[in-house]
Amino acid sequence: MIYMDNAATTKVHPAVVNAMIPYMSNRYSNPSGIYTFSKNVKRDIEDARAVVAAAINALPEEIYFTSGGTESDNWALKMSCLERGRGHIITTQMEHHAILKSCEQLQSQGIAVTKLKPDKDGIVTAKSVEKAIRPDTVLVSIMAANNEIGTLQPVKDIGAITREYGVLFHTDAVQAFTNIDIDVKAMNINMLSASGHKISGPKGVGFLYVEKDKLRKPFINGGGQEMGLRAGTENVAGIIGLAKATKIAVDNMKVRTEYERKMRDYMTDRVLREIKGVHFNGHSQKRLPGNMNFSFEYVDGATLILMLDRQGICASAGSACSSVSSEPSHVLKSIGLSDELAYGSVRFTINEKITKREIDYVIECLKQNVAKLRSMNTEWNNV
Ligand SMILES: *Cc1c(COP(=O)(O)O)cnc(C)c1O
Repeated sequence: MIYMDNAATTKVHPAVVNAMIPYMSNRYSNPSGIYTFSKNVKRDIEDARAVVAAAINALPEEIYFTSGGTESDNWALKMSCLERGRGHIITTQMEHHAILKSCEQLQSQGIAVTKLKPDKDGIVTAKSVEKAIRPDTVLVSIMAANNEIGTLQPVKDIGAITREYGVLFHTDAVQAFTNIDIDVKAMNINMLSASGHKISGPKGVGFLYVEKDKLRKPFINGGGQEMGLRAGTENVAGIIGLAKATKIAVDNMKVRTEYERKMRDYMTDRVLREIKGVHFNGHSQKRLPGNMNFSFEYVDGATLILMLDRQGICASAGSACSSVSSEPSHVLKSIGLSDELAYGSVRFTINEKITKREIDYVIECLKQNVAKLRSMNTEWNNV
């Protein structure tokens, strides 16, 4: 199998699995106990918090462990508004559904929402954010990197604007975390979401960074864990795994991302050169190192995915979350693609394990499949 769907999820690193196992066997204590058996595990959680905090230049007490990116996004948006009463949120049309659906719910409760349209490369400028700010704006939530087209946003410039206007800035960094340098202080980020399973860590764990005192009320009420803001007995093994995955990813970031970028550019160049009628979606340079998103004219992306599947290749048409629906991707629509090109889109997301030989095989399969699908398409035959 050739796995090119790392934006959907990643394989857990073996060292992460090993780090987690003790917490599902001998070290099973509840971290809230006051005996040594508990205090040892509590200490390991605090060590994990420090590792995650260091990765984004935050303080350990600014990191709250959650069940993943979705929960972190819900928390940031809902509590920012709830704590400040009515107000206005600025976000983009290309966010993950965890953001967009949270916005919909807030809208139904009287919060105003502005969804900025990105440019054709998927970029939202700081200037357009500035123009959208109103006196009642509470929060700007703009993702650091897009999960479908990989485009990176000018987070630092946006942070400078939100700071100038005294507005909160949250970024969904689920795709960006450990793939690009993030410094929450230098970038003026007040809140940041990340997830374990996108960085070779376990599923069902993530974190929300909240700058000191920016949110004060609990998101989940209960026993007072996570400094009183997110109750519930800790997902200890998950937290340990998340920290281990973070450490590995940060330590090898330069080498890993350089390799991915090289492989990505190799595959992109060949696909664009060797297949006719292909569009490359997203910004050519300002993008995640492992992300490629192509639209093939006169090809149905979902059918292409199924053909690749039979050849042992995992890729995705749009995002995994939307693969159950037959709507064209909202991200591709937001950058101005026609329905036809949106339906013709396929995303390949590689990691540092991919080999050139595997890429060569995928390109051969792609060429064959695209030619086959087009040969059955009368419209293509007319072009
Ligand atoms: C995967 C993803 C999420 C959701 O994270 P989960 O941990 O799966 O809940 C949110 N935002 C982006 C950009 C993602 O890629």
